[in-house]
Amino acid sequence: MTLTNWAGNTTFHAKEVHHPTSLDELRRLVAGSSSVRALGSGHSFNHVADTAGDLVVLDRMPELVEIDSAAAKVRVGARTTYARLAPLLHQAGFALANMASLPHISVAGSVATGTHGSGVTQPGLAAAVSSIDLVTADGSALTLARGDADFAGAVVSLGALGVVTSLTLDLVPAFELRQYVREGLTQDALADFEAIMASGYSVSLFTDFRDTRVWLKREDELTGPDWYGTTPADGPRHPLPTMPADTCTGQLGVPGPWYDRLPHFRADSPPSGAGDELQSELLLPREHAVKALRELFAIGERIRPALQISEIRTIAADDLWLSPFNGRDTVGIHFTWVRDVATVMPVLELVEETLAPFDPRPHWGKLFTRFPECPERFRSLVHRLDPAGKFGNAFTRVLLGE
Ligand SMILES: Cc1cc2nc3c(=O)[nH]c(=O)nc-3n(C[C@H](O)[C@H](O)[C@H](O)COP(=O)(O)OP(=O)(O)OC[C@H]3O[C@@H](n4cnc5c(N)ncnc54)[C@H](O)[C@@H]3O)c2cc1C
Repeated sequence: MTLTNWAGNTTFHAKEVHHPTSLDELRRLVAGSSSVRALGSGHSFNHVADTAGDLVVLDRMPELVEIDSAAAKVRVGARTTYARLAPLLHQAGFALANMASLPHISVAGSVATGTHGSGVTQPGLAAAVSSIDLVTADGSALTLARGDADFAGAVVSLGALGVVTSLTLDLVPAFELRQYVREGLTQDALADFEAIMASGYSVSLFTDFRDTRVWLKREDELTGPDWYGTTPADGPRHPLPTMPADTCTGQLGVPGPWYDRLPHFRADSPPSGAGDELQSELLLPREHAVKALRELFAIGERIRPALQISEIRTIAADDLWLSPFNGRDTVGIHFTWVRDVATVMPVLELVEETLAPFDPRPHWGKLFTRFPECPERFRSLVHRLDPAGKFGNAFTRVLLGE
């Protein structure tokens, strides 16, 4: 059977797909393979997860969700999805500080690519990792914890260091949020970008570079009729204006648990355009947000034929070597494209060219054409832990300059 990613635009080339059922079986498999790579839930849009060798899927490993209430941490199996994890944490009185737009993705795959949500004080999901367990090239188990010399290189690592078997995540006390959608944000109002993005726990703008709507996720009620000249949506909304909102998490200011408000899409429904799309995202220093958005609005007419919707988010800086947010508070400019590579690629190149003066970094799990420089310390770590390049693939070889 042909194995593809979620969007169906990438076919995996593995000679064999394995579903180990125990750590020992996984260790033997890795030790005996000359080329191996793990697949999470397959939601990336490029070849980052691909291999011509052995592809490992951890969906038959024993389930692991171990909450340590005293330490406010959870140890979780790599293939666990946020959809499975979040309600268990909530029942125990805990929350994750942030989530992506959908909960269907695996923890290990999300962390490996620097997946993020939005929030001016909220870093990406990888920043919650306090310890990571992996099987390295010779089949041995390695644990790296925050504070260890290699830890900051091993969290966002694109599967290039080994097969991650479990991760320990920091937790916060469970909380509730209210989600509001506001319509009609003008381009002029975007001059207040910083204040708008800071007016909720998590704020996203959805725009086609003509009409802009705001998704506000706040602890407090939003009172007063006038909010940056917008009007409140008169019913639930889907981020893609043509789609019905029944797959979306609760809106209209009704309070709900963090895991049912932070993602835009409900765990029990297909996310976004249900696979009929491609995605890209460029991550820029946040201080460039207003200027960069102005440039994109100016070429909106050229972007729109390839675009379903664009989402603008903020992400706080972290210190993870390969993280797109390393050392800088970030604005993420995301593009949900039509599912037609020939239409999308020239427009993506135009967008990359337009944003080039703002020092963008690509989202590792989405489509891009310009690879960033690989930090030398990450290259050394890969060569030390995996000298034969067993976990490498075409994607990581370009990054490593091989
Ligand atoms: C509809 C949709 C919405 C999205 N929304 C967001 C969003 O809001 N924010 C955002 O930042 N991104 C978003 N993404 C992108 C998505 O979060 C990333 O592509 C993420 O990597 C998906 O996780 P996954 O488990 O499917 O990873 P995969 O695509 O399966 O794998 C990604 C990488 O992780 C590695 N990997 C996976 N498991 C392991 C393991 N056990 N050990 C070692 N390496 C491993 C793989 O080898 C690969 O390199 C979205 C994607 C889709 C399809």
